[in-house]
Amino acid sequence: DASEVKGQVLVIGAGPGGYSAAFRCADLGLDTVLVERHPTLGGVCLNVGCIPSKALLHVAKVIEEAEHINHAGIKFAKPEIDLPGVAAYKSGVVKKLTDGLAGMAKMRNVKVIQGVANFIDDKSVLVDGADGKQTKVSFDNCIIAAGSQSSKMSFIPHEDPRIWDSTNALEVKEVPKKMLIMGGGIIGLEMGTVYQKLGSEVDVVIRGPQVMTGTDKDIVKVYTKANEKRFNFMFKTQTQAIIPKEDGIYVEFKGDNAPEPQTYDAVLVAMGRTPNGLKIGLENTGVEVDEKGFISVDNQMRTKVPHIFAIGDIIGGPMLAHKAVHEGHVAAEVIAGHKVFFEPKQIPGIAYTFPEIATAGLSEIEAKEKGINYEVSTFPWAASGRALAADVAGAGMTKLIFDKDTHQLIGGAIVGDNAGELLGEISLALEMDCDAEDIGLTIHAHPTLHESVGMCAEIFHGSITDLP
Ligand code: FAD
Repeated sequence: DASEVKGQVLVIGAGPGGYSAAFRCADLGLDTVLVERHPTLGGVCLNVGCIPSKALLHVAKVIEEAEHINHAGIKFAKPEIDLPGVAAYKSGVVKKLTDGLAGMAKMRNVKVIQGVANFIDDKSVLVDGADGKQTKVSFDNCIIAAGSQSSKMSFIPHEDPRIWDSTNALEVKEVPKKMLIMGGGIIGLEMGTVYQKLGSEVDVVIRGPQVMTGTDKDIVKVYTKANEKRFNFMFKTQTQAIIPKEDGIYVEFKGDNAPEPQTYDAVLVAMGRTPNGLKIGLENTGVEVDEKGFISVDNQMRTKVPHIFAIGDIIGGPMLAHKAVHEGHVAAEVIAGHKVFFEPKQIPGIAYTFPEIATAGLSEIEAKEKGINYEVSTFPWAASGRALAADVAGAGMTKLIFDKDTHQLIGGAIVGDNAGELLGEISLALEMDCDAEDIGLTIHAHPTLHESVGMCAEIFHGSITDLP
């Protein structure tokens, strides 16, 4: 005796992919239903991902800068950290955004249903409501945007409250004295940065030889050097055993640089994310999903079932909010009858660490793999007047990669203060197929950090100026 609802479009999941798709569908005149299991919209990104982590990183950065300025003639006292106050700041930022989304859904007449959706067949889902009620939603078209969650490993006792995933870490309920981060990817490093600044001693265990696997070595080197004192990096090392004991989590290591066993007050597991594709009843639909839970789609976000689309983390590729948003727009527009495709020239990626690491387009590793005749141009920030004045010259580098034959920009990376903001120019240049002349002839304001992008182009061009 479930109640029944019908929509031209059903969107499952209200993360960046899902809400963007639903809003675009509504804007295009389609009658849209959005099902989300959580009470707020925004998915992982707004509630327990991008936004709360950036709010905490902002707090961490203020502490960092206050400490750093002491060699410029200013001395601040050691900060007093009111942890509930920090958590409240973070939650306030999240609430502003999730409330805003609820308002935007209402304004557009998107029907939001709170509950867990499971496919009955390829034309309907059953939603188990948070209030215990069931709703059957039938649809002409469906967009699956059910996202991902932190990966769990069988050898890790996840049930112990001292073993955290990113969601636990974002709660900032306590500052562990000694903390282990498992994984040297973006999420682990960002959360490690927050806790180190709040006062934790942080070890980072990394299976490979560097942090941020897949990022060019020269970029990573600048980051690692700047963080040698912040973190105890254990490269080429794995955890061998993780045993909860009364006085802490006892961890044994193996590998090239394995230290003696250590006891930690908290362990953050940040070893990737698992898509939710195996949990939504897809077996009742004919939609193809692999053993990990990733759904396969074409470049119009269509699954094997032509009226069911999938977007965001659940289809794989870079698990990033902005990718999900753009895919959501494509799916919505295709449903509305537009001839559009998801064929981006670049998907930027940013680690909001100290310093930030930002990349767009091809890395040097990828350019080599593709057999492109490329040339790299780098500009170390030690030569930037603005970087020196802002006291960030010690850890910064801008790197552009050009096709040597056509002079076209094919990739770029920046490591340094505010690299994420500086990346915008590189993303646009890649999208517009700019070449070195376009970038080099663009007058960049002086003294700025983005000037370094122009400098790289001029270096490639062989016409480097003498600007300090
Ligand atoms: P999600 O955001 O995962 O949303 C999926 C939604 O579907 C969820 O709300 C879920 O509750 C709902 N759902 C799932 N199954 C069902 C069901 N059966 N019924 C109803 N609802 C369901 N990305 C960036 O680009 N920049 C960042 O700075 C960044 N920082 C991050 C920091 C952290 C700590 C984490 C964990 C992630 C971060 N990400 C970041 C990644 C980003 O959050 C994801 O890529 C993005 O949220 C994916 O969007 P999505 O729409 O695919 O899915």
